[in-house]
Amino acid sequence: MRAFVGVGANLGDRWAWLALAARALRATPGVAVVRGSRVWDSAPLGPPQPRYLNAVLELETTLPPRALLAALQAVERQARRRRDVRWGARTLDLDLLLFGDAVVAGPGLLVPHPELGARRFALQPLAELCGERVVPGTGRTVAELLAAAPAWELRDVGGYPG
Ligand code: AMP
Repeated sequence: MRAFVGVGANLGDRWAWLALAARALRATPGVAVVRGSRVWDSAPLGPPQPRYLNAVLELETTLPPRALLAALQAVERQARRRRDVRWGARTLDLDLLLFGDAVVAGPGLLVPHPELGARRFALQPLAELCGERVVPGTGRTVAELLAAAPAWELRDVGGYPG
């Protein structure tokens, strides 16, 4: 199954966290990293905190959605993410944005990610990888959602590291 994962980091060496995410996912059984998007420096969401780097990784996986989420959370733990402040700063945040054409609506996992349509910092890199893909449940493509998304301050700062 093709899956798309949003990657965000806003503490410490943000480029190193993005590289760690790709490296750790490559080392995960049942997961192949197909490619990474360009990297965007973006204004933070929520309380005052440092700016983010945001990107998207395209994966090919044999894992079911919940096992993939568990793998993403294991990678977050490797980055010593602190979960104490909701919306707060984090070393590494991994969100399962799309899982093929699947809609998952269960405890602890919602796919497509419910905030996707509102988050230009996720849609912009996702559109680079799969702009023509229809987002399940919306009837719209990623590119169409991007065109309709609220404005957000974003800067393209380079290719995916590692
Ligand atoms: P966050 O603090 O934004 O990383 O949220 C983490 C929580 O969101 C976890 O407890 C997940 O179970 C839940 N969650 C629900 N849907 C998703 C998704 N599509 N991707 C990542 N986390 C999700």
